[in-house]
Amino acid sequence: MKKTFMPDFKDTGQLFDHQLKGLKWTIAHAYKGSQFYKSQFEKAGIVPEDITSLDDIRRLSFTTGNDLKTGYPLPLLSVRQADVVRIHASSGTTGKRKVLSYTQNDLDTWFDMFARCYEMAGLTTKDRVQIAVGYGVWTAGMGFQLGCERLGAMAIPVGPGNIDMQCRFLVDLQSTVFCCTASMALLMAEEVNKRGIKDKINLKKIILGSERSSSAMRAKIKDLLGLEDMFDITGMTELYGPGAGIDCHKHEGIHYWADKYILEILNPETLEPVKDGEIGEMVVTTLCKEASPLIRYRTRDLTRKITQSCSCGNILFMHDKIMGRSDDMIILKGVNIYPGQIDEVLSSIPEVGSEYQLHLERKSDGKDYMTIKAEARQGFDVNHAKEIMDKIKKAVHSKIMVSCAADLCAYGKLPRVAGKSQRIFDNRS
Ligand code: ZN
Repeated sequence: MKKTFMPDFKDTGQLFDHQLKGLKWTIAHAYKGSQFYKSQFEKAGIVPEDITSLDDIRRLSFTTGNDLKTGYPLPLLSVRQADVVRIHASSGTTGKRKVLSYTQNDLDTWFDMFARCYEMAGLTTKDRVQIAVGYGVWTAGMGFQLGCERLGAMAIPVGPGNIDMQCRFLVDLQSTVFCCTASMALLMAEEVNKRGIKDKINLKKIILGSERSSSAMRAKIKDLLGLEDMFDITGMTELYGPGAGIDCHKHEGIHYWADKYILEILNPETLEPVKDGEIGEMVVTTLCKEASPLIRYRTRDLTRKITQSCSCGNILFMHDKIMGRSDDMIILKGVNIYPGQIDEVLSSIPEVGSEYQLHLERKSDGKDYMTIKAEARQGFDVNHAKEIMDKIKKAVHSKIMVSCAADLCAYGKLPRVAGKSQRIFDNRS
Protein backbone atom coordinates (compact mmCIF):
# COMPACT_ATOMS: atom_id res chain seq x y z
CA MET A 1 0.00 0.00 0.00
CA LYS A 2 1.23 3.48 -0.87
CA LYS A 3 2.36 5.41 2.17
CA THR A 4 0.33 8.56 2.73
CA PHE A 5 0.65 11.56 5.02
CA MET A 6 -3.01 12.53 4.57
CA PRO A 7 -5.36 12.07 7.54
CA ASP A 8 -7.98 9.33 7.14
CA PHE A 9 -11.13 11.16 8.31
CA LYS A 10 -14.24 9.87 6.55
CA ASP A 11 -16.03 13.21 6.81
CA THR A 12 -15.73 16.66 8.36
CA GLY A 13 -17.65 15.45 11.44
CA GLN A 14 -14.74 13.18 12.32
CA LEU A 15 -12.33 16.04 11.72
CA PHE A 16 -14.27 18.32 14.11
CA ASP A 17 -14.29 15.57 16.77
CA HIS A 18 -10.53 15.31 16.37
CA GLN A 19 -10.21 19.10 16.69
CA LEU A 20 -12.20 19.20 19.92
CA LYS A 21 -10.05 16.45 21.41
CA GLY A 22 -6.91 18.36 20.41
CA LEU A 23 -8.26 21.64 21.76
CA LYS A 24 -9.07 20.09 25.14
CA TRP A 25 -5.64 18.47 25.27
CA THR A 26 -3.87 21.75 24.40
CA ILE A 27 -5.74 23.77 27.04
CA ALA A 28 -5.06 21.21 29.77
CA HIS A 29 -1.41 20.88 28.70
CA ALA A 30 -0.76 24.64 28.58
CA TYR A 31 -2.61 25.20 31.88
CA LYS A 32 -0.42 22.65 33.58
CA GLY A 33 2.88 23.47 31.91
CA SER A 34 2.99 27.22 31.35
CA GLN A 35 2.74 29.98 33.93
CA PHE A 36 1.94 32.44 31.16
CA TYR A 37 -1.02 30.47 29.84
CA LYS A 38 -2.23 29.61 33.35
CA SER A 39 -2.49 33.30 34.24
CA GLN A 40 -4.19 34.01 30.89
CA PHE A 41 -6.87 31.40 31.72
CA GLU A 42 -7.24 32.76 35.23
CA LYS A 43 -7.74 36.28 33.90
CA ALA A 44 -10.46 34.95 31.60
CA GLY A 45 -11.98 32.98 34.50
CA ILE A 46 -11.55 29.65 32.77
CA VAL A 47 -10.37 26.21 33.87
CA PRO A 48 -9.63 23.47 31.30
CA GLU A 49 -12.85 21.59 32.12
CA ASP A 50 -14.88 24.57 30.86
CA ILE A 51 -13.90 23.76 27.27
CA THR A 52 -16.55 21.32 26.05
CA SER A 53 -17.20 22.39 22.46
CA LEU A 54 -15.28 23.98 19.58
CA ASP A 55 -17.30 27.18 20.09
CA ASP A 56 -15.74 27.54 23.52
CA ILE A 57 -12.54 28.63 21.80
CA ARG A 58 -14.10 32.10 21.69
CA ARG A 59 -13.89 32.32 25.48
CA LEU A 60 -10.09 32.07 25.39
CA SER A 61 -7.76 35.08 25.37
CA PHE A 62 -5.56 35.90 22.39
CA THR A 63 -1.80 35.35 22.29
CA THR A 64 0.27 37.88 20.33
CA GLY A 65 3.75 38.35 18.95
CA ASN A 66 4.40 40.64 21.92
CA ASP A 67 3.74 37.79 24.35
CA LEU A 68 6.47 35.84 22.57
CA LYS A 69 8.92 38.72 22.93
CA THR A 70 8.02 39.23 26.60
CA GLY A 71 8.73 35.58 27.31
CA TYR A 72 12.12 35.70 25.56
CA PRO A 73 14.23 33.55 25.29
CA LEU A 74 11.85 30.55 25.64
CA PRO A 75 8.31 31.96 25.45
CA LEU A 76 5.14 29.89 25.94
CA LEU A 77 7.29 26.98 27.14
CA SER A 78 4.87 24.30 28.37
CA VAL A 79 7.23 21.34 28.86
CA ARG A 80 10.37 20.79 30.94
CA GLN A 81 13.43 22.37 29.36
CA ALA A 82 15.02 18.90 29.29
CA ASP A 83 12.32 17.81 26.80
CA VAL A 84 13.20 20.54 24.31
CA VAL A 85 15.38 19.10 21.54
CA ARG A 86 15.61 22.13 19.27
CA ILE A 87 14.78 25.83 18.96
CA HIS A 88 14.15 27.92 15.88
CA ALA A 89 13.77 31.68 15.63
CA SER A 90 11.89 34.02 13.32
CA SER A 91 13.86 36.11 10.87
CA GLY A 92 12.57 39.40 12.31
CA THR A 93 15.02 42.24 11.88
CA THR A 94 14.19 44.52 14.81
CA GLY A 95 14.42 43.86 18.55
CA LYS A 96 14.16 40.44 20.10
CA ARG A 97 13.52 37.51 17.79
CA LYS A 98 10.65 35.17 18.42
CA VAL A 99 12.20 31.93 19.65
CA LEU A 100 10.10 28.75 19.51
CA SER A 101 10.92 25.45 21.20
CA TYR A 102 10.34 21.94 19.84
CA THR A 103 10.10 18.53 21.48
CA GLN A 104 10.93 15.45 19.40
CA ASN A 105 7.17 14.90 18.89
CA ASP A 106 6.84 18.49 17.63
CA LEU A 107 9.58 17.91 15.05
CA ASP A 108 7.93 14.66 13.94
CA THR A 109 4.58 16.42 13.57
CA TRP A 110 6.19 19.20 11.55
CA PHE A 111 7.98 16.86 9.14
CA ASP A 112 4.80 14.85 8.65
CA MET A 113 2.97 18.11 7.86
CA PHE A 114 5.68 19.05 5.40
CA ALA A 115 5.77 15.62 3.78
CA ARG A 116 2.01 16.01 3.33
CA CYS A 117 2.65 19.29 1.45
CA TYR A 118 4.96 17.48 -0.95
CA GLU A 119 2.42 14.69 -1.31
CA MET A 120 -0.31 17.24 -2.06
CA ALA A 121 1.94 18.71 -4.78
CA GLY A 122 2.19 15.23 -6.32
CA LEU A 123 5.81 14.46 -5.37
CA THR A 124 6.96 10.85 -4.94
CA THR A 125 10.11 9.09 -3.73
CA LYS A 126 11.42 9.39 -7.30
CA ASP A 127 11.60 13.19 -7.14
CA ARG A 128 14.82 15.13 -6.68
CA VAL A 129 14.18 18.25 -4.67
CA GLN A 130 16.63 21.14 -4.94
CA ILE A 131 16.19 23.34 -1.89
CA ALA A 132 17.20 26.96 -2.38
CA VAL A 133 15.93 28.55 0.84
CA GLY A 134 17.87 29.64 3.94
CA TYR A 135 19.33 27.16 6.38
CA GLY A 136 20.21 28.03 9.98
CA VAL A 137 18.22 29.22 12.95
CA TRP A 138 15.14 29.98 10.84
CA THR A 139 12.77 27.21 9.92
CA ALA A 140 12.79 27.35 6.12
CA GLY A 141 15.69 25.09 5.16
CA MET A 142 15.06 22.50 7.88
CA GLY A 143 11.39 22.23 6.99
CA PHE A 144 11.92 21.73 3.24
CA GLN A 145 14.83 19.37 3.91
CA LEU A 146 13.44 17.05 6.57
CA GLY A 147 9.96 17.03 5.04
CA CYS A 148 11.57 15.84 1.81
CA GLU A 149 13.47 13.09 3.59
CA ARG A 150 10.31 12.12 5.48
CA LEU A 151 8.54 11.68 2.14
CA GLY A 152 11.49 9.68 0.88
CA ALA A 153 12.44 11.92 -2.05
CA MET A 154 16.05 13.01 -2.65
CA ALA A 155 16.97 16.35 -1.06
CA ILE A 156 19.60 18.56 -2.66
CA PRO A 157 20.27 21.22 0.00
CA VAL A 158 21.97 24.06 -1.88
CA GLY A 159 20.55 26.95 0.17
CA PRO A 160 19.72 30.40 -1.23
CA GLY A 161 21.70 32.27 -3.89
CA ASN A 162 24.73 30.51 -5.44
CA ILE A 163 23.30 30.65 -8.96
CA ASP A 164 26.25 28.80 -10.53
CA MET A 165 25.80 25.77 -8.28
CA GLN A 166 22.01 25.90 -8.67
CA CYS A 167 22.31 25.76 -12.47
CA ARG A 168 24.98 23.06 -12.41
CA PHE A 169 22.89 20.80 -10.14
CA LEU A 170 19.76 21.39 -12.21
CA VAL A 171 21.70 19.91 -15.14
CA ASP A 172 23.95 17.31 -13.45
CA LEU A 173 21.51 15.97 -10.87
CA GLN A 174 18.39 16.45 -13.03
CA SER A 175 16.42 17.99 -10.15
CA THR A 176 12.67 17.68 -10.74
CA VAL A 177 11.51 20.12 -8.06
CA PHE A 178 12.91 23.50 -7.01
CA CYS A 179 11.98 25.16 -3.70
CA CYS A 180 12.56 28.89 -3.26
CA THR A 181 11.02 32.35 -2.89
CA ALA A 182 9.19 33.95 -5.81
CA SER A 183 11.97 36.42 -6.58
CA MET A 184 14.56 33.62 -6.56
CA ALA A 185 12.35 31.62 -8.93
CA LEU A 186 12.16 34.51 -11.37
CA LEU A 187 15.93 35.02 -11.16
CA MET A 188 16.55 31.30 -11.84
CA ALA A 189 14.07 31.23 -14.70
CA GLU A 190 15.83 34.13 -16.42
CA GLU A 191 19.25 32.67 -15.67
CA VAL A 192 18.40 29.23 -17.10
CA ASN A 193 17.30 30.90 -20.34
CA LYS A 194 20.29 33.24 -20.43
CA ARG A 195 22.67 30.28 -20.07
CA GLY A 196 20.84 28.30 -22.73
CA ILE A 197 20.39 25.21 -20.50
CA LYS A 198 16.60 25.01 -20.63
CA ASP A 199 16.62 21.80 -22.71
CA LYS A 200 19.26 20.18 -20.48
CA ILE A 201 17.26 20.43 -17.24
CA ASN A 202 14.43 18.23 -16.01
CA LEU A 203 12.54 20.67 -13.78
CA LYS A 204 8.82 19.94 -13.46
CA LYS A 205 7.62 21.81 -10.40
CA ILE A 206 8.47 24.81 -8.27
CA ILE A 207 7.32 25.14 -4.69
CA LEU A 208 7.27 28.72 -3.45
CA GLY A 209 7.51 29.74 0.17
CA SER A 210 7.38 32.85 2.34
CA GLU A 211 6.95 35.64 -0.22
CA ARG A 212 3.68 36.79 -1.75
CA SER A 213 3.75 36.49 -5.54
CA SER A 214 1.33 37.92 -8.09
CA SER A 215 -0.25 35.63 -10.65
CA ALA A 216 1.51 37.62 -13.40
CA MET A 217 4.88 36.78 -11.88
CA ARG A 218 4.00 33.09 -11.48
CA ALA A 219 2.82 32.81 -15.06
CA LYS A 220 6.09 34.31 -16.27
CA ILE A 221 8.21 31.85 -14.21
CA LYS A 222 6.15 28.86 -15.32
CA ASP A 223 6.46 29.85 -18.95
CA LEU A 224 10.20 30.64 -18.84
CA LEU A 225 10.99 27.24 -17.33
CA GLY A 226 8.32 25.19 -19.12
CA LEU A 227 7.05 23.86 -15.78
CA GLU A 228 4.17 21.43 -15.25
CA ASP A 229 2.98 23.18 -12.12
CA MET A 230 3.76 25.61 -9.32
CA PHE A 231 2.63 25.54 -5.69
CA ASP A 232 2.53 27.95 -2.75
CA ILE A 233 3.44 26.62 0.66
CA THR A 234 2.35 28.51 3.78
CA GLY A 235 3.49 28.56 7.36
CA MET A 236 5.36 30.57 9.98
CA THR A 237 7.94 29.84 12.66
CA GLU A 238 5.35 30.16 15.43
CA LEU A 239 3.33 27.37 13.80
CA TYR A 240 6.25 24.89 13.49
CA GLY A 241 7.57 26.59 10.31
CA PRO A 242 6.71 26.34 6.63
CA GLY A 243 4.44 23.40 5.80
CA ALA A 244 1.15 24.52 7.39
CA GLY A 245 -0.67 24.17 4.07
CA ILE A 246 -0.34 24.17 0.28
CA ASP A 247 -2.53 24.38 -2.83
CA CYS A 248 -3.23 21.15 -4.72
CA HIS A 249 -3.03 20.71 -8.51
CA LYS A 250 -6.53 22.23 -8.86
CA HIS A 251 -5.32 25.54 -7.34
CA GLU A 252 -8.72 26.40 -5.87
CA GLY A 253 -7.17 27.58 -2.59
CA ILE A 254 -4.63 26.57 0.05
CA HIS A 255 -5.53 23.31 1.81
CA TYR A 256 -4.48 23.78 5.43
CA TRP A 257 -3.88 21.11 8.04
CA ALA A 258 -7.00 21.42 10.16
CA ASP A 259 -6.07 18.25 12.04
CA LYS A 260 -3.01 20.09 13.42
CA TYR A 261 -4.45 23.54 14.11
CA ILE A 262 -7.75 25.40 14.24
CA LEU A 263 -7.98 28.43 11.97
CA GLU A 264 -10.22 31.38 12.83
CA ILE A 265 -10.56 34.35 10.48
CA LEU A 266 -11.36 37.45 12.53
CA ASN A 267 -11.87 41.13 11.88
CA PRO A 268 -8.55 42.61 13.10
CA GLU A 269 -10.35 45.61 14.62
CA THR A 270 -13.26 43.97 16.45
CA LEU A 271 -11.73 40.47 16.78
CA GLU A 272 -15.12 39.02 15.88
CA PRO A 273 -15.42 36.37 13.13
CA VAL A 274 -15.80 37.87 9.66
CA LYS A 275 -18.63 36.74 7.39
CA ASP A 276 -17.90 33.73 5.20
CA GLY A 277 -15.62 34.73 2.35
CA GLU A 278 -14.59 38.09 3.85
CA ILE A 279 -10.94 38.93 4.45
CA GLY A 280 -9.71 38.86 8.03
CA GLU A 281 -6.76 38.02 10.25
CA MET A 282 -5.69 34.40 10.64
CA VAL A 283 -5.81 33.33 14.29
CA VAL A 284 -4.47 29.86 15.02
CA THR A 285 -4.74 27.37 17.86
CA THR A 286 -2.53 24.29 17.74
CA LEU A 287 -3.93 20.86 18.56
CA CYS A 288 -0.87 18.78 19.51
CA LYS A 289 2.06 21.18 19.83
CA GLU A 290 3.93 20.36 23.04
CA ALA A 291 6.84 22.73 23.66
CA SER A 292 5.32 26.07 22.60
CA PRO A 293 1.59 25.57 21.99
CA LEU A 294 -0.32 28.44 20.39
CA ILE A 295 -3.70 29.44 21.75
CA ARG A 296 -5.62 31.90 19.60
CA TYR A 297 -2.34 33.27 18.27
CA ARG A 298 -2.81 36.42 16.19
CA THR A 299 -0.66 35.85 13.11
CA ARG A 300 -1.39 39.30 11.54
CA ASP A 301 -1.61 37.51 8.20
CA LEU A 302 -4.75 38.22 6.19
CA THR A 303 -6.76 35.84 4.10
CA ARG A 304 -10.32 34.58 3.68
CA LYS A 305 -11.87 31.18 4.19
CA ILE A 306 -12.94 29.29 1.10
CA THR A 307 -16.25 27.70 1.94
CA GLN A 308 -16.78 25.35 -0.99
CA SER A 309 -14.87 22.07 -1.01
CA CYS A 310 -12.07 21.44 -3.48
CA SER A 311 -12.79 19.56 -6.70
CA CYS A 312 -9.75 17.36 -5.96
CA GLY A 313 -11.95 15.56 -3.40
CA ASN A 314 -9.68 16.10 -0.38
CA ILE A 315 -11.80 17.08 2.64
CA LEU A 316 -9.11 19.29 4.22
CA PHE A 317 -10.45 22.86 4.33
CA MET A 318 -9.01 25.73 2.31
CA HIS A 319 -8.20 29.37 2.76
CA ASP A 320 -7.25 31.86 0.06
CA LYS A 321 -3.76 33.18 -0.66
CA ILE A 322 -2.21 35.37 2.04
CA MET A 323 -3.31 38.93 1.19
CA GLY A 324 -0.75 40.76 3.34
CA ARG A 325 -0.45 41.79 6.99
CA SER A 326 -3.17 43.38 9.10
CA ASP A 327 -0.68 46.14 9.99
CA ASP A 328 -0.81 47.19 6.33
CA MET A 329 -4.59 47.59 6.24
CA ILE A 330 -5.98 50.95 5.16
CA ILE A 331 -9.51 52.17 5.71
CA LEU A 332 -10.97 54.26 2.90
CA LYS A 333 -14.57 55.49 3.03
CA GLY A 334 -15.35 52.80 5.58
CA VAL A 335 -13.95 49.99 3.41
CA ASN A 336 -10.99 47.91 4.63
CA ILE A 337 -8.39 47.61 1.89
CA TYR A 338 -5.30 45.42 1.92
CA PRO A 339 -2.35 45.88 -0.45
CA GLY A 340 -2.72 42.22 -1.45
CA GLN A 341 -6.13 43.01 -2.97
CA ILE A 342 -4.64 45.79 -5.09
CA ASP A 343 -1.89 43.36 -6.19
CA GLU A 344 -4.54 40.91 -7.20
CA VAL A 345 -6.57 43.43 -9.20
CA LEU A 346 -3.54 44.86 -11.00
CA SER A 347 -2.29 41.35 -11.81
CA SER A 348 -5.53 40.68 -13.64
CA ILE A 349 -4.76 43.46 -16.13
CA PRO A 350 -2.13 42.25 -18.61
CA GLU A 351 -0.93 45.73 -19.62
CA VAL A 352 0.08 46.59 -16.05
CA GLY A 353 3.50 45.71 -14.57
CA SER A 354 4.18 44.64 -11.00
CA GLU A 355 5.15 48.02 -9.48
CA TYR A 356 2.54 50.33 -7.98
CA GLN A 357 1.86 52.90 -5.27
CA LEU A 358 -1.28 53.91 -3.40
CA HIS A 359 -1.70 57.60 -2.61
CA LEU A 360 -4.38 58.64 -0.13
CA GLU A 361 -5.48 62.18 0.54
CA ARG A 362 -8.30 64.13 2.17
CA LYS A 363 -9.55 66.98 0.00
CA SER A 364 -11.23 70.23 1.06
CA ASP A 365 -14.67 68.60 0.69
CA GLY A 366 -13.69 66.45 3.71
CA LYS A 367 -13.75 63.26 1.66
CA ASP A 368 -10.94 60.75 1.19
CA TYR A 369 -9.49 59.94 -2.22
CA MET A 370 -7.22 57.20 -3.44
CA THR A 371 -5.01 57.28 -6.50
CA ILE A 372 -3.35 54.13 -7.76
CA LYS A 373 -0.12 54.90 -9.50
CA ALA A 374 0.92 51.88 -11.55
CA GLU A 375 3.69 51.08 -13.96
CA ALA A 376 2.87 49.75 -17.40
CA ARG A 377 4.29 46.43 -18.47
CA GLN A 378 7.64 46.53 -20.25
CA GLY A 379 7.17 47.48 -23.92
CA PHE A 380 3.67 48.92 -23.47
CA ASP A 381 2.89 52.01 -25.56
CA VAL A 382 1.85 54.65 -23.00
CA ASN A 383 -0.14 56.47 -25.69
CA HIS A 384 -2.87 53.95 -24.84
CA ALA A 385 -2.59 54.71 -21.12
CA LYS A 386 -6.07 56.21 -20.84
CA GLU A 387 -7.84 52.91 -21.66
CA ILE A 388 -5.74 51.05 -19.12
CA MET A 389 -6.40 53.65 -16.40
CA ASP A 390 -10.12 53.16 -17.01
CA LYS A 391 -9.64 49.39 -16.75
CA ILE A 392 -7.89 49.80 -13.39
CA LYS A 393 -10.64 52.07 -12.02
CA LYS A 394 -13.37 49.69 -13.15
CA ALA A 395 -11.62 46.60 -11.77
CA VAL A 396 -10.95 48.22 -8.38
CA HIS A 397 -14.54 49.38 -8.18
CA SER A 398 -16.01 46.00 -8.96
CA LYS A 399 -13.61 43.90 -6.85
CA ILE A 400 -12.88 46.12 -3.84
CA MET A 401 -16.02 48.31 -3.91
CA VAL A 402 -14.26 51.67 -3.75
CA SER A 403 -13.78 54.29 -6.40
CA CYS A 404 -10.31 55.58 -7.12
CA ALA A 405 -8.27 57.54 -9.63
CA ALA A 406 -5.61 55.77 -11.65
CA ASP A 407 -2.36 56.95 -13.10
CA LEU A 408 -0.28 54.82 -15.44
CA CYS A 409 3.38 55.60 -16.01
CA ALA A 410 5.95 53.99 -18.27
CA TYR A 411 7.88 50.88 -17.25
CA GLY A 412 10.81 51.67 -14.93
CA LYS A 413 9.43 55.05 -13.74
CA LEU A 414 8.60 53.98 -10.18
CA PRO A 415 11.55 53.69 -7.78
CA ARG A 416 13.32 50.33 -7.28
CA VAL A 417 14.77 49.54 -3.88
CA ALA A 418 16.81 46.60 -2.66
CA GLY A 419 14.55 46.04 0.36
CA LYS A 420 10.79 46.30 0.59
CA SER A 421 9.20 48.98 -1.59
CA GLN A 422 6.97 51.57 0.07
CA ARG A 423 3.58 51.18 -1.56
CA ILE A 424 1.23 53.16 0.66
CA PHE A 425 1.47 56.96 0.90
CA ASP A 426 -1.21 58.07 3.34
CA ASN A 427 -1.35 61.87 3.31
CA ARG A 428 -4.63 62.18 5.21
CA SER A 429 -4.08 63.81 8.59
ZN1 ZN B 1 -7.64 20.32 -3.68
